[in-house]
Amino acid sequence: MFSASMLRRLFSPLISGLRHVFYRPITIKYPYEKTNAVPEENYRFDPKQGVAYPGYKGRHILNLDKCTGCGTCDRTCENIAEAITMVFGYKIYIKIQKQLYENFRNDPKLTEALEKILESFKGDLKTIKAEEEHYVIELTDEPVFNYRCEVVYENLLENSIEDLKKDGWTVEISDYKSPEIMKFKISRDNIVLELAIEKLDFGFKQNRRSIFPAVDYGRCVFCGFCVDACPFNAIEMTPVYELSVFEREELLYNPLMLSTKYFETYPPETNWAEKTIILMRRYR
Ligand code: SF4
Ligand code: SF4
Repeated sequence: MFSASMLRRLFSPLISGLRHVFYRPITIKYPYEKTNAVPEENYRFDPKQGVAYPGYKGRHILNLDKCTGCGTCDRTCENIAEAITMVFGYKIYIKIQKQLYENFRNDPKLTEALEKILESFKGDLKTIKAEEEHYVIELTDEPVFNYRCEVVYENLLENSIEDLKKDGWTVEISDYKSPEIMKFKISRDNIVLELAIEKLDFGFKQNRRSIFPAVDYGRCVFCGFCVDACPFNAIEMTPVYELSVFEREELLYNPLMLSTKYFETYPPETNWAEKTIILMRRYR
């Protein structure tokens, strides 16, 4: 009824399929398994020799000790992806005279004013320091990075200041030198507060202005031209390619983040059955 050739045609796909069950798969089950094809070396460029060392072009790593803040990387990226911005670190603080604070500590006007200013910094730790004559409330536990103090003001303080003005507070600029400092004197009746956005000095001798690059990984195309352009070998690209985040802003890496070797990313939870299958696939 069935000829030999018909049987062969009928069973050969089945046999071929069965044979492949015993082959080692060439696909990998990312993120539980990682590819071994990514080189472990950083991509880097030696400006003295004019030689690029092969390596994976993943997330950058910035050496703060070498970066002079020259901005060459920023200018190089300008016509590619505009992913780099040269930024300063700022601290934001409120200063109030000790005596004045003691006199008005139970005055609701003072509490309301402080609450309004602190509104934008809800998640941050507030450090209160006592100086000789003042209390200083630091509004952020880490520097706020930006290219101008005015932009920090617009992003974090403008709404609160406008609200204070509506409530009858007088707000005057007492010191202003862009991009370094912006200070406000906020007063009502006899209560006086000082609010300041002040550029930080990170204390690197080779970078007296304390200006460093920040990278927006929502724009970066990982071409590596910024690494090639850096005259001081201060920036390299690491084999870290796992940069997925839930919020767009988390793709903005400030200089401190860029100088940190690794940010761990964890794959989703696996159950015991998946773990067993992964192990079988790995060791077959
Ligand atoms: S690697 Fe990214 S940041 Fe560097 S030049 Fe290319 S696009 Fe710009
Ligand atoms: S990383 Fe290099 S090119 Fe960029 S600002 Fe620093 S020293 Fe200049």
